[in-house]
Amino acid sequence: MSAERVSYATCPLCEATCGLEITTRGEAVVKIRGDEQDVFSHGFICPKGASIGALHSDPDRVTTPLRKNASGTFEPVSWEAAFREIDERLTPLLAERGRNAAAVYLGNPSAHGFSSLVYGRGFTKALGTRNVFTASTVDQMPKQVAVGLMFGAGLSVPVPDIDRTDYLMILGANPMASNGSLLTAPDMRGRMRALRARGGRLVVVDPRRSRTAEEADEHVFIRPGGDAFLLAAMAHVIFEEGLDDLGTVGSHVSGLEDARAACARFAPGAVESACGVDAERIARLARELAAAERAAVYGRIGTCTQEFGTLASWLVDVLNTITGNLDRKGGAMFPKAAVGQTNSSGKAGSGRGVDLGRWHSRVRGAPEAFGELPAVCMAEEIETEGEGQVRALFTVAGNPVLSTPDGERLARALDSLDLMVSLDIYVNETTRHADFILPGPSPLRRSHYDIAFYQLSVRNIVNYSPPVLEPEPELPDEWVTLLRLMGIAAGQGPDADVEALDDFVAGAAAQREVSNSASAVAGREPAGLLGDLEPRRGPERLLDLMIRCGPFGDGFGARTDGPLLTLAKLEDAPHGIDLGALEPRVPEMLRTPSGKIELAPAPILADMERMAAAFDRYRNGSLVLIGRRQLRSNNSWMHNVAPLVRGKDRCTLWVNPTDAERIGLSETGFARVRNETGDIELPVEITDAIMAGVVSIPHGWGHDLEGVELSVAREHAGVNSNLLAGTDLLDPLSGNAVLNGIPVELEAA
Ligand code: SF4
Repeated sequence: MSAERVSYATCPLCEATCGLEITTRGEAVVKIRGDEQDVFSHGFICPKGASIGALHSDPDRVTTPLRKNASGTFEPVSWEAAFREIDERLTPLLAERGRNAAAVYLGNPSAHGFSSLVYGRGFTKALGTRNVFTASTVDQMPKQVAVGLMFGAGLSVPVPDIDRTDYLMILGANPMASNGSLLTAPDMRGRMRALRARGGRLVVVDPRRSRTAEEADEHVFIRPGGDAFLLAAMAHVIFEEGLDDLGTVGSHVSGLEDARAACARFAPGAVESACGVDAERIARLARELAAAERAAVYGRIGTCTQEFGTLASWLVDVLNTITGNLDRKGGAMFPKAAVGQTNSSGKAGSGRGVDLGRWHSRVRGAPEAFGELPAVCMAEEIETEGEGQVRALFTVAGNPVLSTPDGERLARALDSLDLMVSLDIYVNETTRHADFILPGPSPLRRSHYDIAFYQLSVRNIVNYSPPVLEPEPELPDEWVTLLRLMGIAAGQGPDADVEALDDFVAGAAAQREVSNSASAVAGREPAGLLGDLEPRRGPERLLDLMIRCGPFGDGFGARTDGPLLTLAKLEDAPHGIDLGALEPRVPEMLRTPSGKIELAPAPILADMERMAAAFDRYRNGSLVLIGRRQLRSNNSWMHNVAPLVRGKDRCTLWVNPTDAERIGLSETGFARVRNETGDIELPVEITDAIMAGVVSIPHGWGHDLEGVELSVAREHAGVNSNLLAGTDLLDPLSGNAVLNGIPVELEAA
């Protein structure tokens, strides 16, 4: 019997980036626990991280390329045959119908993979399509748009400095279950408890008394979709009572008077019915926030997936700014990541800013944001005939049939495509429609560096994990598959030289660095840098390049001070390297053309008219639907992991006792939930943890569809709450779908 081996790896499953200690014997996972020496998570682990071994050994995981045969079932196919046939079908299609005839959908797990993020971008570029969709527009795009307009870059998200703050207001987020989102901070429970233990105050604003709300000093029930009204009214009070104080960023703020004027009509008394919070309480919350020594406001999914998502996201940072908490220790601060952060590359202090709506979707004319069109447009772009109609789709680690509105319509549209290729590890509700499924390796057989989420971290951290288990040659990493597809998209055919393509990608990255006058390697020869990176290839070569050129890197010898990071240094630090607490970064991190914090961007001010027109919308007393996050679930894709779905079914409808009694629902029964978009039935849970007038269903369920090959998930199928979400309603600035605050009717089933 082989000996046990202990490896350390960063968990790639959610944004918290916890360190795992993984014991293996041969190919078998023996034990997983939190890595106590991890510089960031200090041993914290959640049930999902502990189940990564079950995910690795899941017999339903696809381990060979699959092709759909004439009878509509999948059969194994060689990689060579799969790429040849994809080329035979894609190349003529692009030639006849143009580049926009192909579309891409990138799912949430893509954001965690260095390979999929970096090489996925290369593939999309080679495809040359404007039809790029991602899970961002059913998630955080409003925040990216808001901070892009305010600070000049889409990932310049100020994160609450939770370890040093005295007052934290959380809206529409449940970090006790999510473990933090747009807020990388392992052990959120521990951090929130520490805040309270040092005398700080935690306020949670949510239509549901979530686990986070239970931990709070104060929980404020709010009508779904009412966050922007509450936040605007709080800003109104702060301005009106002269409590505004820009603190240290004062000389870098533009638009203060416009922001003040924009909030003037949202007095607490005027927004009471729109947000369901009484005027006195709004005023008190505003005064408390302004008076706190070090405070932060943090809004997440509930503030984004609603019709005023960008406005609510913007107002969060208006409050942080006018209370003097932006860029202050204990306030809302800007991380400085070692790799990939736009706001620490190029010229410091100003930049190009962001342009929205550089092109529009073909059918409804929805504007792009950060190169993406709204995911709610996918079905109509496939269904509607004409020039630019989408006829081929590539999905990467995504399940839009469950995670975007009106999945039934999307599923029908997918069946009408000429070609669909899915890079995925499961035959799920979306990939069952594919012509080809190209699997990637288990998370334990690939390296990991969380390029996206260290940009949102409450401490500046770096941590690289090599594969825990030897990669299998027959199951190449996603970057290899993406390069093969890139070769096809670029017209080089199915046998394009992967090594040459990888050299091309690395050469282009090196060229960008040396052409950047603010870079430590400005003016050097790209070939010289690539020589220094030898013999690394693939993602490791790119990562080493990015680390060394990043703000903490060695600059390929150009720097003599600081951590002088290289990938080799990270490889020597299996528990990560802590680069310290966040430091003030304004004005150096600004990338707006003005070099200012734009407190009142014109597109946002224009959109406030729409909000003002909705003051009375919620007075009719109808029921509205919201989602809910669960600790053992992460969207749809972990429901086939037995330890995570064990026990009582969790896809239930939460109803307040008052509504249940009025409608005649009982705990042992089922409810029928419907609206003009959909009609579903599910078990009822009656609880006063949800406010009257609101019902809640978790998303990501509904696994009993024909063709889905998820044997465990099928046993705990649940229903798809997004069948009740229409594709017509979106936040206009970001294109984000409205998944919260959806009007529904209820009856006993
Ligand atoms: S909290 Fe997230 S990163 Fe940490 S163990 Fe759980 S799933 Fe993994």
